[in-house]
This record gives sequence, structure tokens and C-alpha cells, in this order.
Amino acid sequence: PKQLTDEAAVLEGPPQLKARLLANENPFGPSEKARQAMVEAMSTSYQYPFAYTRELVQKIAAYEGVTPEHIMVEAGSSPLLQAAAIYYAQKGGAIITGDPSYRDLPDSAKDLSAIIVEVPLTKDYKLDLEAMEQKVGSGTALMYLCNPNNPTGTMLDTAKLKAFCERVSKKVPIFIDEAYIDYVPNPQATTMIEAVKKGQNVIVARTFSKLYGFAGLRVGYIVAQPATIKLLSKYAVGGMSISAPAIRGALVSYQDQEFMKDTLQKTLTSKEFLYETLKKEGYEYIPSVTNFVMFPLKMDGKRFVEEMARRGVGIRNWKFNNQEWCRVSIGRMDEMQAFADAFKQLS
Ligand code: PLP
Repeated sequence: PKQLTDEAAVLEGPPQLKARLLANENPFGPSEKARQAMVEAMSTSYQYPFAYTRELVQKIAAYEGVTPEHIMVEAGSSPLLQAAAIYYAQKGGAIITGDPSYRDLPDSAKDLSAIIVEVPLTKDYKLDLEAMEQKVGSGTALMYLCNPNNPTGTMLDTAKLKAFCERVSKKVPIFIDEAYIDYVPNPQATTMIEAVKKGQNVIVARTFSKLYGFAGLRVGYIVAQPATIKLLSKYAVGGMSISAPAIRGALVSYQDQEFMKDTLQKTLTSKEFLYETLKKEGYEYIPSVTNFVMFPLKMDGKRFVEEMARRGVGIRNWKFNNQEWCRVSIGRMDEMQAFADAFKQLS
């Protein structure tokens, strides 16, 4: 059988894998309504999607209580993370981030010569806000917070984060990557869009890739001060990057309570099954508020990924705190069962 490294496993498509648990995707989406809207959108897709893009921005703005000028949409949140990386790196200085955390923005900025200050997580695997604040200095260009954090699946205390934003955004801009916030119990009470509304120098990134199941369709956005949106828009294309079917699909998916509730329930059922599997095999795990779970391995991480891939199960490995870790994305029950079967053979 073919041996896969974790990088290769990420690129390997569903035909090779029984369980694709490596990119924090949502196999319960896109919703039926979104699929229909996208098929219907096809016949008029010779037209540019300006009007639908505007409608999507207005819909998000109305729900969040901001103006359309506070919002920029793109083909997923990645181009917006990239835009921020370019803008803040070219200003020179340092970008403060957690370790481990999502590396996209810091890595892009590093390629452009920014200094990356990586702050280890707390003992309970959360971003260490106090330690991160202490690193802020005159040379800081940006603070990047991934909340909930990828790859640990933990989330910050909201009151603490609010106070942090209020204090720290007076000194440096804060970029909060909320890719997984739709999975937490009350996203509206947790999002830092509230800080943007109060006029703070905070940029919030959101995506349709996770809970809405749009990873392959590509729709994401940021909410920030209109002046910041103007600055960052120089480094990304914006709405023109998104295809008409994807925008039409996003329009019917956005805040579709029935679909969201159903996906959250299915995700929870699969997650509980994973927790039970790990417990049964004598493993601990970091309790997760997201659609992925991190747990400490008892063998070499690279070998574990290869052995699992050989059994048709794609997962990812990490190394931090002198410990090898595995991150399992939450999939359908048949995928979690495939994980459990393969895992039993190796643990
Ligand atoms: N931010 C975080 C924390 C992620 O985990 C991901 C993807 O996994 C992204 C951003 C990028 O997602 P997308 O470009 O699909 O919106």
C-alpha cells in the first residue's frame, strides 16, 4: 500500500480515504437549499455576480448590526488573512501569535520579512492573553488571535477577551480569526464583532468553509473599521473572486437555523463517539468547542499518520510541549467508526 506523509494525506482526495478527517471540513454540508440555489444559479452564471455579492454583504451587515462598509467578502477567509499579512508585514515590525495556532497569516507575513513572535499556550491549551499582551511593544504591527483556536479546539473566556480587545487595540490592531465560532454555543455573544461596533481597531475574519460546508465553494469575509477595510482591500480582489453559484449558495445558507442546528447535532454525536473511543483506548484529549479534537499520542506522530492513512483514515499530527499530538476532524459516523477501527489496531 501507498505510504502517505501528512502533507500528502492532506492532498489525497476522498476516493483514497474512507475517512477524511484532516482539514476540519463539514461533511454534513452544503445544505440541500444551498445545492438547489447553486444549480439554479448556473443558467445565469454568464453574468457577473455584483448584485448578489452586494446582497450577501447587506445580509451579513444587517445581521451583525454594522454597515456594508465594515465588511469585505472574498473567496474564503484565506485571501483576507493573506491581505492582512501583506499589509501589516510591509509596515515592518512584529506579528504576535499563539503557539500552536493557525499558521497561515503569520507564515505569509514571515515570508515578507515580518518578525513572528510565538507565545506558547496556557496549561489548558488556550491562547495566553496575558503573555501575548506583555509582548506588545513599539515594534508590534499586529496581534493575531485564532478563537476558537486551531489546532487545540479551545476558546477564550469572552469577558477576558473583550477587556483585552478594549485595552490592547489602543496600541496595536487585533486580527481575530473566528473560522470556528459558528460551532460554539452562542456565537453572537462570543464574537468580537462587538469590539468592531464599539469602534475598536479589531478585524474579525469569518468563513462559510466550516459550519456551512463551503470549503470547496470558497466564501469568507472580514468585519473591521471601514478605514481598515479600505486599506486591506488593496491586497485582495474582494467580491469579484467569488463565483455566482457560491454567492447564491451562501445567501440561502447564511443563518439557516434548521441546517445549522442539524449539523451541530450531528457534529456533537460524532464528537461524543470520538471521545468515547479515545477513553476506551486509554487516551486523554483536549475538550473541544469545535469540529476537531486534539489528543496526545503514544507513538511517533508521522508514523501514526502514515499507519492511519494506510488504513484509509486521514488525520494530522503536531508536535508541541515535547509531545506528539493528533488532530482528528469530526466527520460522519461511518468515518468516526473507520477512525475507531484503525485506531484500535494501533493503540
Ligand atoms: N482560519 C482558520 C483558523 C482555519 O482553520 C482555516 C482553514 O482551515 C482558515 C482560516 C481558512 O479557511 P477558508 O479560506 O476556507 O475560509
